[in-house]
Amino acid sequence: MSRPPGFALRRTWKNHLGNQWIDPLRIYAPPSIDEVRQIVREAEEARVTVRAVGSGHSWSDVALTRGFLLKTDGLARPVTSEQEFLRPEWTGRQLVRPEGGIRIKELNAYLDGRGLALSNMGGYDHQTVAGVISTSTHGSGLTFGPLNDFVRSLDIVAAGGQVYRIEPSDGPTDREAYEAHHHGDGRMLVQDDHWFNAVAVGMGCIGVICTVMLEVQPKYYLREVREFHTWKKVRADLIDGEVLERNRHYEVLFSPYELKHAYPCLVTTRNYTTNPSRKPLDKRTRNWAVELASGFPLTPHILNLIVDLKPSLSPWMLENAMRALIKKEYDEVSYKVLNIGAANLLPAYSCEIGVPMDGRHIEAADAIIQVAAESRKLGDVYQSAPISFRFVKASNAYMSMMNGHDTMMIELIQLSRCDGGYELNAAYERALSKLGGRPHWGQVNTLTAGEGLLARMYPHYRAWLNVHRRLNASGVFDSPFTDRVGISTAHFTP
Ligand SMILES: Cc1cc2nc3c(=O)[nH]c(=O)nc-3n(C[C@H](O)[C@H](O)[C@H](O)COP(=O)(O)OP(=O)(O)OC[C@H]3O[C@@H](n4cnc5c(N)ncnc54)[C@H](O)[C@@H]3O)c2cc1C
Repeated sequence: MSRPPGFALRRTWKNHLGNQWIDPLRIYAPPSIDEVRQIVREAEEARVTVRAVGSGHSWSDVALTRGFLLKTDGLARPVTSEQEFLRPEWTGRQLVRPEGGIRIKELNAYLDGRGLALSNMGGYDHQTVAGVISTSTHGSGLTFGPLNDFVRSLDIVAAGGQVYRIEPSDGPTDREAYEAHHHGDGRMLVQDDHWFNAVAVGMGCIGVICTVMLEVQPKYYLREVREFHTWKKVRADLIDGEVLERNRHYEVLFSPYELKHAYPCLVTTRNYTTNPSRKPLDKRTRNWAVELASGFPLTPHILNLIVDLKPSLSPWMLENAMRALIKKEYDEVSYKVLNIGAANLLPAYSCEIGVPMDGRHIEAADAIIQVAAESRKLGDVYQSAPISFRFVKASNAYMSMMNGHDTMMIELIQLSRCDGGYELNAAYERALSKLGGRPHWGQVNTLTAGEGLLARMYPHYRAWLNVHRRLNASGVFDSPFTDRVGISTAHFTP
């Protein structure tokens, strides 16, 4: 086959932080769905594996492959919604159909130019659309599920190079129009809730996602308010639950230490506002000094150096970092307010555990306080960044961390040079797993293939596995990650 642009042999691929790397046999950057089909078939003939990668923003091994690594920056166009294939009841809805490799940042710019916007997003925008849905990336706000819940239709290349369009049973595509257009080219339309719930979160092992249809909404503006509280008040508010209903977005930064205050918290709320373009600059920006300092190239290294040299300063740093973010009013277009800003640039990694919001989310904070205290006492190991609590609506996607119940997602961020950070996160993960915790696929986790772990965590795991076995019949999408968690079909060299 002719080599598409970006082809490379045995070149090291690293994720964005550099904590995951691998030397795949080949790297491809295919520009079209037909090239993807060819690569998958070629891999099957050679009996090696294939894995698509997005922008490498997973801290876990979920994007690694020893076989053919498929970069998706050539599949990043904001293609149109194919109005001619829409069922009549879907016309008039706000739908976009970008290719899977487009980053959230470029998608936001495209939508903005058309007076549209994503209804929600994670706290950052450098990830790709296919990447975020594959790991069930989420934001905060109990009326919103994870980003995969905004997907209405997916075009994927599965084992054998077979192209499927997969949608719910009442999905947007008009079968007659689609099949007439694709007559003889082997593409298959599947409109089936079970298949759709299975492929909605696939961790890269159900095929290569080439296009995604998303439902969006008209462009809107948000006001962000950040207030300092202690855990005592936040705990009472969470038990009452009204704050989660009243605010479009509600999230908490939390310190597990008692210093001047017992377990300080920074509460962020975001709600609709009007276009702030006539407001003074101060109301349209976050704390500029903090943003400037966070964006300053040396800041991350200074923070890292401090936690490296004097870890016991961490509780003080956590409380002051949160205080520095207090702000009464920041109004801007939605996607700028939903992006948490310069904090994303710090060299850090994270593990994130989802706990059901049935009372266990309150116990989870107590468990974190206990683990942090034990690690401090036993090994002088400290939490090196504030812990984030975000609140996400239940998702129907079988392998979403939010499947089946509203979930508090607990993000345990560590600066990259903090001693013992990985061990501390593993201790949190163990403690939270006793409270029904499910680790984020894209963040550092210690899941194994042992003792039916995934089957116990995910009630629809077997149903997911059945669809996975169909779409990955040859095992071409197996990987070191699928080996680790026990979902490989193990026919090929992974
Ligand atoms: C700074 C930062 C901020 C973050 N913020 C959040 C947040 O707010 N909320 C949250 O939930 N998570 C967050 N994350 C985690 C991140 O969103 C996920 O790990 C996400 O999956 C990364 O997307 P990516 O495009 O970089 O994909 P990658 O990391 O490259 O890949 C992730 C997975 O998607 C698969 N994949 C990628 N493209 C395709 C494709 N075309 N077809 C099939 N499979 C594909 C890969 O095989 C892999 O399994 C953050 C991570 C970072 C580094």
